[in-house]
Amino acid sequence: MRPEILFPLFAPVSTLKGVGPKLLPAVEKLAGPLVRDLLFLAPSNLVFRTQSDAVSAREGEVQTFAVTIGQHLRPHKIGAPYKIRCFDQTGFINLIYFKVFGDHLEKAHPVGAARVVSGKVERFGNEVQIAHPDWIVPPEQAGDIPEVETVYPASAGVTSRQVRRFVLNALEKAPDLTEWQDPAFRQRQRWPGWRESLEALHAPQTQADLSLDALPRRRLAYDEFLAHQLALCRRKSSRRAEAAPVLKLGAASAAIDAALPFELTGAQRRAIGEIRADMASGYAMARLLQGDVGAGKTVVGVLALADAASSGFQGALMAPTEILARQHYERIGPMLQAAGINAVLLTGRDKGAGRAEKLRGLASGAVQVAFGTHALFQDEVRFKNLALAIVDEQHRFGVAQRKQLQDKGQGVHLLSMSATPIPRTLELTQYGDLDVSRLDEKPPGRKPIATRAVPTARLSEITARLDAALKSGAQAYWICPLVAESEVSDLAAAEARVVDLRQRLGVPIGLVHGQMPAAEKDAVMADFADGRLGAIVATTVVEVGVDVPNATIMVIEHAERFGLAQLHQLRGRVGRGSGESSCILLYDAPLSESARIRLDVLRQTDDGFLIAEEDWRLRGGGDLLGLKQSGLPDYKLADPIAHRELLLAAADDARLILARDPELTSPRGQAVRVLTELYDWKPDRPDAPA
Ligand code: ADP
Ligand code: MG
Repeated sequence: MRPEILFPLFAPVSTLKGVGPKLLPAVEKLAGPLVRDLLFLAPSNLVFRTQSDAVSAREGEVQTFAVTIGQHLRPHKIGAPYKIRCFDQTGFINLIYFKVFGDHLEKAHPVGAARVVSGKVERFGNEVQIAHPDWIVPPEQAGDIPEVETVYPASAGVTSRQVRRFVLNALEKAPDLTEWQDPAFRQRQRWPGWRESLEALHAPQTQADLSLDALPRRRLAYDEFLAHQLALCRRKSSRRAEAAPVLKLGAASAAIDAALPFELTGAQRRAIGEIRADMASGYAMARLLQGDVGAGKTVVGVLALADAASSGFQGALMAPTEILARQHYERIGPMLQAAGINAVLLTGRDKGAGRAEKLRGLASGAVQVAFGTHALFQDEVRFKNLALAIVDEQHRFGVAQRKQLQDKGQGVHLLSMSATPIPRTLELTQYGDLDVSRLDEKPPGRKPIATRAVPTARLSEITARLDAALKSGAQAYWICPLVAESEVSDLAAAEARVVDLRQRLGVPIGLVHGQMPAAEKDAVMADFADGRLGAIVATTVVEVGVDVPNATIMVIEHAERFGLAQLHQLRGRVGRGSGESSCILLYDAPLSESARIRLDVLRQTDDGFLIAEEDWRLRGGGDLLGLKQSGLPDYKLADPIAHRELLLAAADDARLILARDPELTSPRGQAVRVLTELYDWKPDRPDAPA
């Protein structure tokens, strides 16, 4: 329950002086619906007003002039501005007003009157002008014009100055709250208290005060992270309290493990160990398995599925595309079968009697494991006792979709698998309420992918070499450039490239792109996987997760246009078999500095986690492949990149606080509770991972 001390901050913004029905929508849009939201609306700028005169007025600056009113010029035609011609000893200054009706300006500022005017200086022809001056007052009121003015984000419906007024009003309502931060930590950071920090945030004196590094801003950012992490941790614990079937390591799992043609890596063993502990706990697992492409997530999933089956329950593995689901089924199905577990593949293509038969098997429990696409969570699909849901390439599914699959059983253990390594900061903000296992070790014997950056000018040389390699049996991907983030123009470029390559290369070449119907795309990919195509040209949609071990060459055109994580994902399509693999990054010279860094990083490392960190840093975050759609939490003052180390500290702090005082009943606990209520992170926020 919300503590009473916060009530004034949770009042609607309409309770602030001056926020009437006309301004309300604009204020709500800008800041949010509550008084609290205005507190957290950071100023966007500072204006320093300098004194000037007509001859030395500086265009673009905000300046103040002492003038005499010379003449009022009414608009000579509709749409023309109203003009007040003013002068000082050095020349003329025109004040421009649009949409003026009546004579109130003339009455307020009669000809011959002295006025101090202030606003942004513009030039129109030879004349100096100010459109809608911020201030126009008699000399005796000149002292009202602030020399330093705090500017807020504004919009069509509300001005910066109005916003400022509302913010100051909101600030008056901010109570003194008991400090929730650890005193020693706060002292080390040299941070002011909560209320002082807010006051400082809204009273900047220098540009430095506006920066993300300003101490009050950092304190408030930390608070925001801490509140969020606390909410995520508490959500995690409440999840852990949800009962779920006990699934135990059985004979099937052991048989599969023994039959594997390889040894599990240490990371795989650790991950399956963590998963088994969750599944045997009697409480629902909610775990994310993070691992680079090729890290071997599938086999970890298989062992978990086998545990579910041998414990007398059912499991399901859902993949985002038909081809991936099929690939899983074809590779894993036989392993399960050999261990006495029945599996089916269920996709949109299943129709009629065949489909009915599969559905019967799942409903009766005759089938223990289902592989499939979205088709798995349709209404008609009923499981006898689904206890484990695995979602491959989880970012390709919406929260609701993952939940729909989970809802097919009671207390279903959920394992999400992600092939997009994400930085630790992002992991904390996105998935802080999940347990995470990381596969940070690749299976042994992987040969590094020889990665080279080559200017497009040497295209013919590349295609000649490619031709030779393809003729000797290799297969290649050729990724076409991102032309304009638009599938249409990307497609045009890809089509032109196919025509060109068909002339240059002596093997059959296919094309896949995002606008193709799924079935057609799958068919081309299948032709490639089965060796009927020597190369495929693709827009950036080459399905993540598709495994064609014989494909050893990756060419990426206009590599300079791609983000680092995306390049890494694309490169990960090759290097999956025993052959030597190569990746050629074609670029248009000259490279920009940031593009050069990206290509260098890629040439130097193939550690997905490292690359993700670099990408995050270089791009300023928020744009990692596949994460666009999930979106970051809507932080108000905190910035997960600029305040990275604060986020990490807040995450530790949150865990520690809850470990010591799970119910938040100690004195500090109670202060912390106020903090969490202040931010009020809803556990069921729409972007929450299922
Ligand atoms: P991803 O993590 O991208 O889903 P996969 O599960 O598809 O990776 O595994 C990639 C390849 O590595 C597969 O061919 C798989 O059989 C193989 N593999 C998985 N684990 C090991 C291991 N411990 N040793 C050798 N090869 C492995
Ligand atoms: Mg995979």
